[in-house]
Amino acid sequence: MDEIYECPQCNQKITVPSEIDRAAQLELAELVHMGRRIDAIAVIIAKYKLGLLDSKIMMAHITAQKDTCVRCGNKLLEDGVTNCASCSALNLNWQ
Ligand SMILES: [Zn+2]
Ligand SMILES: [Zn+2]
Repeated sequence: MDEIYECPQCNQKITVPSEIDRAAQLELAELVHMGRRIDAIAVIIAKYKLGLLDSKIMMAHITAQKDTCVRCGNKLLEDGVTNCASCSALNLNWQ
């Protein structure tokens, strides 16, 4: 089953396919970290069969820096799927 999260900050639903295991999380986080966002979207579409919009939404919530909120840049307190304590945005803190 895919996990579906809601981001209170942008009001979008983030779909995380169950096929995304720890290795896949690291692969995607590394691409985002390197600024290769187009490649990250391409991987999500090709491997996990999400549509373009869902892939873009997911990519936009993957932290580019470990423990750093994708929206406000404040420090995240938890690994994995977590909400920012400052702005409440959902983060995929996968690094
Ligand atoms: Zn959001
Ligand atoms: Zn934040």
